[in-house]
Amino acid sequence: MSVDIILILPLVFGAIVGSFLNVCIHRIPLGVSVVSPPSSCPNCSNRIPFYLNVPVISYILLRGRCSACGEPFSARYPVVEAFTALVALFTFLKFGPTPEAAVYFAFLSALIVITFIDLDLKIIPDVISLPGIAAGLLASFFLPYPGVLHSFIGAAAGGGVLFAVAWGYYLATGHEGMGGGDVKLLAMIGAFLGWKGVILTLLVGSFAGALIGALLMLALGKGSRYAVPFGPFLALGAAVHLFFGEAIISWYLLKATGG
Ligand SMILES: [Zn+2]
Repeated sequence: MSVDIILILPLVFGAIVGSFLNVCIHRIPLGVSVVSPPSSCPNCSNRIPFYLNVPVISYILLRGRCSACGEPFSARYPVVEAFTALVALFTFLKFGPTPEAAVYFAFLSALIVITFIDLDLKIIPDVISLPGIAAGLLASFFLPYPGVLHSFIGAAAGGGVLFAVAWGYYLATGHEGMGGGDVKLLAMIGAFLGWKGVILTLLVGSFAGALIGALLMLALGKGSRYAVPFGPFLALGAAVHLFFGEAIISWYLLKATGG
């Protein structure tokens, strides 16, 4: 088998998972089952037959419309599918065919669902973050990184740091600046990535969040300041740590020690 064919497998697998993530993004906030009933058109309730449920490709072939009633589907469906396919590919390229790759792809998939739900509704559902914390702690017993101790410290630090910031902000301003959902999300990230991952996630997430927030304020005016949810930026920071964390940390230590 050539190397190209091997790379198609994670892409196809990722696109199929992405199709399921679309269902999760849509249904988890509604509190309904993500398994049944099967996908149907939100307009005419026509069941989407399996041969028209091929990720990305069906959307292109049907030009983004329901085959029965012609109602346009959101472009977000193929975007999530294609993005998840790329995430699967990069996870495979980084970690190879290992148990780590499977765990981290599941972790990244959860972050994708959280990102889009937070963008839509400004909430991070406990049904993802709380089992996520448990899954991260459990996985640390079997994976080489970050280690059991680092995982538990990471979960506690992730939850604790943001809780302190949110509480301080509330005391200082009388407003809730950050949701409890962000606290649980960072605890979940800490469970998977350890306390170093929490630090890098906060740094990258705050920087990216401030940058995008400032750009939005410039583009849309001051009122948009509170319109940016923090969850997607924490997810971005966690992904940066997962793929580039070692490189960034060793570069920083090299600089810090003057080597
Ligand atoms: Zn329809």
